[in-house]
Amino acid sequence: MAHSLLILPGDGIGPEVMAEVRKVIAWFDRAGLAFEIEEDLVGGAAYDAHGTPLTDATMARAQAADAVLLGAVGGPRYDALDFSVKPERGLLRLRKEMDLFANLRPAQCFDALADFSSLKREVVAGLDIMIVRELTSGIYFGEPRGIFTEGGERVGINTQRYTEGEIDRVARVAFELARRRNNKVCSMEKANVMESGVLWREVVQAVHDRNYGDVELTHMYADAGAMQLCRWPKQFDVIVTDNLFGDLLSDAAAMLTGSLGMLPSASLGARQAKGRPKALYEPVHGSAPDIAGQGKANPIACILSFAMALRYSFDAGEAADRLEAAVERVLADGLRTADLLGPAGGTAASTAEMGDAVVAALDAA
Ligand code: NAD
Repeated sequence: MAHSLLILPGDGIGPEVMAEVRKVIAWFDRAGLAFEIEEDLVGGAAYDAHGTPLTDATMARAQAADAVLLGAVGGPRYDALDFSVKPERGLLRLRKEMDLFANLRPAQCFDALADFSSLKREVVAGLDIMIVRELTSGIYFGEPRGIFTEGGERVGINTQRYTEGEIDRVARVAFELARRRNNKVCSMEKANVMESGVLWREVVQAVHDRNYGDVELTHMYADAGAMQLCRWPKQFDVIVTDNLFGDLLSDAAAMLTGSLGMLPSASLGARQAKGRPKALYEPVHGSAPDIAGQGKANPIACILSFAMALRYSFDAGEAADRLEAAVERVLADGLRTADLLGPAGGTAASTAEMGDAVVAALDAA
């Protein structure tokens, strides 16, 4: 049965990097993985065509697809728009209505790029960790929230709130992932100063004891976790944490590995009838208006996002390994888009040259 994939290229460099992913998808199609692909508009592109950053029809297609692959949204042309129709609202609507509660952010350091990190080569070379961030609850959503006046002065309030169910479901995602990797989960919170952290720790431990006794579980305070990520990140396999700490820790971990142009992500929801989770895959970077339309964008983050779709939505782990190995080979051969050149300089490959090289490396494998 064909895998259904909804492609939403979006704005800025989104369509440019997605064109390269289409070459990769075509290669896997030829190799026997059948895809049924639909393409649609999101963000500023959807606003230009329909006056909204995501139509109901596109939302329905996203709900029905096995997976959604998104490029990027946004750009200066849309900065003055009302908040309700800004390009980012399209992305937020997808995440909310698909209830994508687990955000997976790998921090992987390809050997050829180890010198790109701000940390020493031996600290990051071969790094491969996965941060699972709770994405739909916690302090960004808790009530009460707002700016109020109390005793003659203003007070800003946000509320950190987690239910047992919300912690339980994201912990399960982390344990399931660990079983496919190196079988270790480190849960991070601040149980020393926050009640929500105490509950987080208890629930994660209970989920472990009930169903995942085979996975090694440790707990760490999130501030200590941040230090350990910089000191010796290779001690971790899967890290699971809440929305706020995950926001910070995943960005810090990502930067251990170098360029924004290299970072993929997945956001997963509840399992559907076919046993697959609702899923949205997207590069971490934005629409990069400063380089859009110039053939300079690095397509690897989007290509690696598709590799995550192969692994987590299409049960094609071997195909994902093969694609990641192809990317690694291209980098080892020295091909670099402008963002990967570093101070030494050199000749930059174009977006299309990088995509073609990945396809050629797939052929050569
Ligand atoms: P950005 O990620 O678009 O760009 C930051 C810097 O990184 C820029 O210098 C850009 O040229 C570079 N860069 C990013 N991706 C690259 C790639 N693949 N190859 C080479 N270089 C790359 O972030 P920004 O400039 O803060 O935001 C630009 C627009 O994107 C804004 O409208 C913002 O709201 C939007 N945005 C969207 C998303 C998303 O779609 N998920 C995420 C972040 C920002």
